Amino acid sequence: MSRPHTHLFDIDVSIKRAATATAPAEELLVMPVWTPGSYLIREFERHVQDFAAKDAAGQPLKWEKVNKFTWKVTTNGSRDWHASYRVYANELSVRTSELNSSHAYWNNANLLMYLDGFLKSPSNVRVIAPDVWKVATGLPGVPGQRNTFRAENFDVLYDSPFEVSNFKSLLFNVKGVPHRIVIDGEGNYDPERMRRDVQKIVETQVELMGGEVPYRDYTFFLHLRSNAGGGLEHANSTSLGYPRYGFTIRGGDRATSASPNPVVPAGSDYRGFLSLVSHEFFHLWNVKRIRPDALGPFDYTQENYTRLLWVAEGITDYYADVTLRRAGLISEGDFLAAAARSIQSLHNTPGRMVQTVEESSYDAWVKFYRQDENSINSQVSYYDKGAILGLLLDLEIRKRSNGAKSLDDVLRYLYTEFFKKDRNYTPSDFQKASELAAGGSLEEFFSKYVRGTAELDYNAALEAVGLRLDTGRVTGPNGQPVERANFGADLRQEGDRLVVTRVYAGSPAYDQGLNTGDQILALDNARMTQTLFNARLAEKRPGDLLNLTIFRFDDLSTLLIKLGGRAEGTYRIVPLPAPTEAQKRMYRSWLGGQ
Ligand SMILES: [Zn+2]
Repeated sequence: MSRPHTHLFDIDVSIKRAATATAPAEELLVMPVWTPGSYLIREFERHVQDFAAKDAAGQPLKWEKVNKFTWKVTTNGSRDWHASYRVYANELSVRTSELNSSHAYWNNANLLMYLDGFLKSPSNVRVIAPDVWKVATGLPGVPGQRNTFRAENFDVLYDSPFEVSNFKSLLFNVKGVPHRIVIDGEGNYDPERMRRDVQKIVETQVELMGGEVPYRDYTFFLHLRSNAGGGLEHANSTSLGYPRYGFTIRGGDRATSASPNPVVPAGSDYRGFLSLVSHEFFHLWNVKRIRPDALGPFDYTQENYTRLLWVAEGITDYYADVTLRRAGLISEGDFLAAAARSIQSLHNTPGRMVQTVEESSYDAWVKFYRQDENSINSQVSYYDKGAILGLLLDLEIRKRSNGAKSLDDVLRYLYTEFFKKDRNYTPSDFQKASELAAGGSLEEFFSKYVRGTAELDYNAALEAVGLRLDTGRVTGPNGQPVERANFGADLRQEGDRLVVTRVYAGSPAYDQGLNTGDQILALDNARMTQTLFNARLAEKRPGDLLNLTIFRFDDLSTLLIKLGGRAEGTYRIVPLPAPTEAQKRMYRSWLGGQ
């Protein structure tokens, strides 16, 4: 990092082969095209420049590129040679890298090439940084060598990001194992409260997974920026981006350690931070150790396909909230309201009838990470539906086993039987593990909901714990549902333009010809803004006509849309009128409380 403000990392790769090994005349250096956990080919090689190679005596070696991510070096049989290059890094996200005058953050898959055929070989990383900056990484240091770290193989190397700056650290121990939160950037967080709540999340998940802490230390990298977001999991660290002023508690208070009640009120920004921490931390088990078939060891040159992202991401998301509830950080009401919201959101996604959650997992590389205007109508999120399937599967196992087993047992079983035996699990292994806990076949569940697109039966699952889904239907005096007007498109105000951002398949707007990208100038000949449009729509009845004046590309036209009807309102999960003792017992063992 000789000139941080240029965003250029100077990389020197030193290759040393054992004296006993034969060395070929030509060798290949490969730059990863993706980084695990973020399932898109990102072509990190596009930021490489100024490549050169030389032998141990400093004599230049010939080289050429043989594809977009591979450099072939004519080493003439040298056992000891170097490559040097620079990498431009000016994009801060959990999966990319940033170097500037205030800090350096990087993912090694963005920066460091590997020698083809040697992903299992160890490596050392020596960081040469401005003296005033500290170095944080999940890799162990090499004793006696300043800022030098050891990776036992390249999967470990590429799983270990670095933060190099004047970061702040919050420290705590769980079962004697050190944890730290490394924070770059300012924000309205209360350090004591953050430390206490993150520690609770760690303790709760360690207990849930059987009480063993499976790493020697753990680092939370946290970047606070006004527009930051997202997380990426690693085996003994995680990288988190979060809005710097996103720590308020509803009511305008800051999240403080002084507050005697640990429960964060529903709707607080701070809950978003705790959910992110809880999700990413749980990944250290679910995906980093309990590994789906194709996810590790990795192929860094192409897509690594799996049908199990709904388990790896969706069930992790389910446990993010389960953890917050068990840790006492959110209320039962908050947990159930969030579940009802995700059920409603799934129900408003026409793509749930088009794509299975296995297909969604498999095609993440070309679909989930490449959302467009058709995604809502052709895709289902393996996060969203996966989390709901986690809830349903958990309740199904609890019901079938009369409360003796739960989804927790499935995860602990996979941890013991697969991770501990150094095996990855397949879709059928996951189904078998679930059936073992349930004590019987779950073929119908998996064929309808995982490999199929059947509508989910929420009430069959919720009934086990004395709850039901209320879809907010209102009935009139004659018992007929009272319908509200249904339009079927999302709009956004962009400056003085009102633009259609999404049109839902099967809705009146879709069937009668509205397009994503249409600009709505007027409704019933009156100029429209989003606020006005929403107000006018709220006055309409099913069957009423909307007379829209639109620009489609460059052309003005009118469009007449007859509104449909919709009986459903806001979804809620509510208690059954007279729950049995068994239902109450099952509820308490699931969520605690009453
Ligand atoms: Zn995740």
